[in-house]
Amino acid sequence: MKYFIVTFGCQMNVHDSEKIAGILEQKGYERASSKEEADIIVFNTCAIREGAEDRVFGNVGALKKMKKERPDLIIAVCGCMTQKEQTALEMKKKFPFVDIIIGTFNVVKLGEYIDKLKESRKKQVEVFEEGDIDELLPYKRTSGENAWVNIIQGCNNFCTYCIVPYVRGREKSREKEAILSEIKELVKSGKYKQITLLGQNVNSYGKDLKNPCSFAQLLSEICKIEGDFKVWFMTSHPKDLSDEVIDVIAKEDKILKDIHLPAQSGNNRILAKMNRKYTREDYLKIIKKIKRKIPSVRLTSDFIVGFPTETEEEFLDTYSLIEEVRFDSIFAFIYSKREGTVASKMDGQIDEETKRIRVNKLLDLEKKIQKEDNKK
Ligand code: SF4
Repeated sequence: MKYFIVTFGCQMNVHDSEKIAGILEQKGYERASSKEEADIIVFNTCAIREGAEDRVFGNVGALKKMKKERPDLIIAVCGCMTQKEQTALEMKKKFPFVDIIIGTFNVVKLGEYIDKLKESRKKQVEVFEEGDIDELLPYKRTSGENAWVNIIQGCNNFCTYCIVPYVRGREKSREKEAILSEIKELVKSGKYKQITLLGQNVNSYGKDLKNPCSFAQLLSEICKIEGDFKVWFMTSHPKDLSDEVIDVIAKEDKILKDIHLPAQSGNNRILAKMNRKYTREDYLKIIKKIKRKIPSVRLTSDFIVGFPTETEEEFLDTYSLIEEVRFDSIFAFIYSKREGTVASKMDGQIDEETKRIRVNKLLDLEKKIQKEDNKK
């Protein structure tokens, strides 16, 4: 029996797909090289942008014919998109040939849903509201010499444009000892040269633990593990990036001098409307500190253009922030309205053409900066 996984979205989802692969291999499935040769096809979905959701609907819909020809083929849809109850129900109605529809927290029980489906021949649809971190699940790692290690799941920040807190729940940190022993095993295996720590907001790590441990302390302890490996992490929230973390990055050779710090906007009114809890001045202060303490740092960031009510002047504040920091690379996104978020109900939605023009201006600026820096 063979499986094929289609993954949409971020690194958290890529890592979740490694967990899904581990669960399926434990059940005796082997990886298939195409959907055609698979006995089970799993779509691990993303809800962050409308385009990602449309792609999932398109991809799942395209399997109708295959399922008709091979009724024993199992089709499962899971992840952030189906964590939203309304979307799970829409999926069920629109695609009656899908066998399993589950949310992000139900993934740990995928094996049980497959068994129940085979026994009862009845569609399995279930979405849990919350879930604990399961330390015992196997992972089938697929990212070459890089190993993803989840340190915290969920998010408490509720940025007004973001669906993550609604589909990944509140912050839950893994126990420090569990993380350290996972990394020790990975390093000992000799297969991995890079350990990437994952979380929606890694800087928040440990605040919820019975024995609190800061992200800086965790990084220091990881660096004490013997072996030839590098450490990286994502993603950081500027309001939680402490001096302690910057100092550890500066001091430890094992930590890559590569910081991804999403700014999202360079305008204070828009940052407040986004509920980012820092100002342009705060952000620039952190950047100054990072550059001073880590002169070789490689800085990257995320930006959203066309947030509701964003004026041309306010957009130009984002433009000037990028000019001032001179990031090594940026990810610029057009604001996409997500049902269920605060921003989706805001007045003053910006038209698509204006958003497109603004995002292109940022990308042109990025190219210009890179060209100048490459010349240097
Ligand atoms: S910090 Fe904001 S953007 Fe990041 S996952 Fe949490 S709510 Fe979303």
